[in-house]
Parts: sequence; C-alpha cells; structure tokens
Amino acid sequence: MDDTEQAVARRRLIERLRRRTDVSDRTLAALESVPRHEFVPDRLRSAAYADRPLPIGHDQTISAPHMVAIMTDLLDVDEGDRVLEIGTGCGYHAAVVSEVVGPETVYSVEYVPELAADARRRFDRLGYDVSVHVGDGREGLPSEAPFDATYLTCAAADGVPDPLLADTCVGGRIVAPIGGGRSQRLVRLTVREGGDVDREDHGGVRFVPLQ
Ligand code: SAH
Repeated sequence: MDDTEQAVARRRLIERLRRRTDVSDRTLAALESVPRHEFVPDRLRSAAYADRPLPIGHDQTISAPHMVAIMTDLLDVDEGDRVLEIGTGCGYHAAVVSEVVGPETVYSVEYVPELAADARRRFDRLGYDVSVHVGDGREGLPSEAPFDATYLTCAAADGVPDPLLADTCVGGRIVAPIGGGRSQRLVRLTVREGGDVDREDHGGVRFVPLQ
C-alpha cells in the first residue's frame, strides 16, 4: 500500500469510529492526522487501519484505534495543556494526543530503552515534538510536573501510583486501566483539592500490565 492508499484506509477507519463511538470530532480529526502505518512494524503495515491492537515487539502492543480515541477524549485536554503519558510504546498514542495539545507539551515515560529510542527517532522523522524519558512510570516525572492530564497505556494492578496523583494539578484528569488479568477497568480520576479524587468507571478493558 502506498501513502495514498493508507490515507484512504485511515479515512475509512475514522468513519467507522464516528459511527460506532461517541468520540468528539476533535479527537477523530487528531486520529485522522496521524499515520498509524508509520508506527507499526513493516510486516503489519497493511493491517495498520484495522481497529485492533497490534504487536510492536518486546511483548508490547499498540492499542486499538477506538481505545486510543476513547482515552484521548476522556483526557479532556485543550491546546497548550501539559500531558504525561506512562508507556510510550511505539509512540502512536502520544502522537494523537500531541495533535490535540500541540508541540512541546506531551511528556512520555517508557520502561524499555529500545522502544523509547525507536519512538524518539519516529517522532523526529514525523515531526512530533514529544519528550520521551526512559524510566519507571510509577515514579511519574516530577521534574516536568504539574500536568493537566496523565494517562497510562499499561494496567496498574493496585491503582494509580501516588506520584502520578501528586504530579497532576487540581482539576486535572488521570485516565488509566486499573486492575489485574481479566478484571481491568478503564477509570478516569479527577484530582480535587486536598488530594481527594473523583472516580468514574468507563468499562472493562484489556491492557498489558505495568512492569
Ligand atoms: N501508547 C503505546 C502503547 C504501548 S503498550 C502505543 O501507542 O504504542 C504499554 C507500554 O508501557 C509498553 O511500551 C511498555 O514497555 C510500557 N511500560 C510498562 N511498564 C512500564 C513502566 N513501569 N513505566 C513505563 N512504561 C512502562
């Protein structure tokens, strides 16, 4: 498939997401701008616009487009908002969020150095200004805090780690798969004054675990 054919396949995917989800037009426009085929391994490029997760090496996966769309919508971010991602993977999800908030405000922490290095190269090549840090996302990124929104692309068995709550500003959102094995739930926490959080449940999900 050449780039034009990929763009047609991407357009079809966006139309399917528009029909099947109630994701905002702004988020769908962000997904339409990001060439997902540039983020998947070469041999899987022809499947880049199927609405499913795909393997990206190191036992990790790129999430299905509908999940990226739903999570991006739940972040409820605007241009210029500072966002922290835990789990860069191939960088696709961060690129989508970056299309919404703009350059220089998305920070991402990745545990596997090789994935972080590949994602950095990809961001440079495609023109995304996302800041990639190698480390354990459980510790957050205090040097760049506070964030307006934080999200995890791997499941936290015991709930959102405290440092991530501390790095998110009052009124800020944290979107994360919480729980182990087959009992993960997608939750959105909103941080309130004094460290309280409001919690919303957004249904059952299946993510790779936080290492
Ligand atoms: N957003 C990614 C999805 C990656 S899958 C994408 O669009 O491709 C989850 C990622 O979380 C994997 O890359 C995995 O290595 C990473 N991860 C797992 N545990 C982590 C931890 N403790 N800190 C940071 N990243 C972690």
